Amino acid sequence: MGATAARSAERFAVRQNGETTMNYANVKYCDIANGVGVRTSLFVSGCTHHCKGCFQPETWAFSYGEPFTRDVEDAIIESCNHNHIAGLTVLGGEPMEPENQEALEPFLARFKQELPDKTIWVYTGDSWEDLMVGGPRCTVDTPNILSHIDVLVDGLFVEELKDITLRFRGSSNQRIIDVPASLAAGAVQLLDTNTSSALGPERAGQGA
Ligand code: SF4
Repeated sequence: MGATAARSAERFAVRQNGETTMNYANVKYCDIANGVGVRTSLFVSGCTHHCKGCFQPETWAFSYGEPFTRDVEDAIIESCNHNHIAGLTVLGGEPMEPENQEALEPFLARFKQELPDKTIWVYTGDSWEDLMVGGPRCTVDTPNILSHIDVLVDGLFVEELKDITLRFRGSSNQRIIDVPASLAAGAVQLLDTNTSSALGPERAGQGA
């Protein structure tokens, strides 16, 4: 069975097994490693990039983990509804796999509606340019997802460029992108994670 057929079979099995088309590997609470401030981090399942040196290759399978249900959504939103929590981070696996985008878009819309003062960070192996309209990884859901989120950490993990001193990214090719500013400018605007504005406009000046 080829790689594409195997992925289709995995996704079919997932659909038969639950009410969602996406599985998730883990939810980490009180995470300070994947974005500014204390956050809840959602690790989704499924990634076709297969970077050399990936720190959790078990999440490459779309069928890995558990179905991402409404109960899981509720628990994540509840965990973020506290003053000391800066927001939600979504990583994986690959959140921007087309089938994962389909499942994440309505959840991220709900999250932003219910908790508008919390930031959303998304980690992807895709490049910003590939996610723009007309790019090879842009789906019908991509513009909406980008409209919901605050920060996109983009680019594949490159083992030769690994640097453990980097903040919030694994290799030096990856960029921490200020999404609203980049959409407004029509070009990538990098986020300065050392300033209070990295917490999001509503939280600037309020402390982490
Ligand atoms: S994009 Fe992330 S999850 Fe996918 S292979 Fe690369 S490092 Fe691993």
